[in-house]
Amino acid sequence: SSDPSPRQTLSYLHGLFEAYGLEAKSKLGQNFLIDLNLLDLIVRTAELDRSDAVLEVGTGTGSLTARLADEAGVVVTVEIDRALQPVAKEVVGARQNVKFVFGDALAKKNELNPDMLVAWDEAVAGANCTRKKLVANLPYVIATPLISNLLITRTDIERMVVMVQWEIAERMRAVPNTKDYNALSVLVQSVADVETVRKVLPKNFHPRPKVDSAIVLIKPNAEKRAKVGDVKKFRVFLRDLYVHRRKNLRQALIGWPSGARDKKDVDAKLAELGIDGTVRSESLDLEQHLRLSAVFG
Ligand code: SAM
Repeated sequence: SSDPSPRQTLSYLHGLFEAYGLEAKSKLGQNFLIDLNLLDLIVRTAELDRSDAVLEVGTGTGSLTARLADEAGVVVTVEIDRALQPVAKEVVGARQNVKFVFGDALAKKNELNPDMLVAWDEAVAGANCTRKKLVANLPYVIATPLISNLLITRTDIERMVVMVQWEIAERMRAVPNTKDYNALSVLVQSVADVETVRKVLPKNFHPRPKVDSAIVLIKPNAEKRAKVGDVKKFRVFLRDLYVHRRKNLRQALIGWPSGARDKKDVDAKLAELGIDGTVRSESLDLEQHLRLSAVFG
């Protein structure tokens, strides 16, 4: 492409912000990556070529966008803060394969913004792409709903390479009987393979976030998904199951949020499943969650 990749060092960023009279908005999770190696690591992990249609959530100053555009077929990039529009457009420069969407990546009730999804689908068709990937340094407040909604509702995403808060990365790959294991762990692992690529420290961003971060690779897995069947239903089941973390499994199933259950019925079904009701849900493995959901979901 015609323009060189932006350097995105701290002084470069300061220069950009000064030129455009901007200040980073912490409420919007505006922590910009200032480590070039990490930007490159994200792009490398995405394994892009011209058949890829990338969705980026959080354009920011466009530094990752430009790098993605240099390798992918097309990049659809979404940014909520219109003040960043002129900066991002300057940084992306003459690259023709970038579609900007200015708006919230999430619609009401944390659902995915339909305009974003339409823009992505149109970009796939327009650029003759055959694969979809999410590649983003995400605003941390929306990471969980964005990733889970994409995993649940879209079966055509080849991979996600995302920078998220370290704690979320830990949850996504947590195993039973650990403090991080929860509904998100079970849900993500039921439809995808998850891997932490790199832990990232606050000093690699400007301004520095208060928490550690991680680059995570999530690969949707069709075989796993087939075993789950109705993923939306499974998600609702998991949400209800994990409402009361301190209850044991039997108590949780009896005092079900959307309607109490008969104790004897719960005991009989648990006995039939061969699952001990005195344990907590977070000690159950994926397969046990699936069997429970089939009976109680
Ligand atoms: N990609 C840039 C980088 O790597 O330096 C910026 C990443 S920054 C962590 C997250 C960006 O997401 C910010 O520019 C922020 O304004 C934007 N953002 C925050 N909430 C958003 C939302 N709900 N929808 C779309 N963009 C959002």
